[in-house]
Amino acid sequence: MSADPAGPSEQKGQPGLVSAALSGLCPRCGAKTLFGAPAALADECAACGLEIRALERGGRFVGVVTMLLALLLILAALGIDEWLRPPLWLSFLFWAPVTVGSVIFGLRFYKTMWVYHQYEESQQP
Ligand SMILES: [Zn+2]
Repeated sequence: MSADPAGPSEQKGQPGLVSAALSGLCPRCGAKTLFGAPAALADECAACGLEIRALERGGRFVGVVTMLLALLLILAALGIDEWLRPPLWLSFLFWAPVTVGSVIFGLRFYKTMWVYHQYEESQQP
């Protein structure tokens, strides 16, 4: 979108996105305040008062992301079931935490990416 070939040294925040999503770091002050629940954003940063909710304008896509993740997981589960034919209890033992973990991480990563993007946009003059 904003491909700037002559971009100088403005690449801050890009490499840290995964760790920002994992620890829920505020885009402004870097405190671990981005998430109020494992997969839900906080209303505002408790450290610097940044209004995180106001930055979350892509919320309507969250359902789509969750559905895509679930679809991928179901396809993977069916594939592995067909391939290895594991006992039912083993499938359940494996897929329950994997599903919960993937959905939570997917949502966290998606929301972090979105909030950081919105925050950078809001910093442009
Ligand atoms: Zn903050």
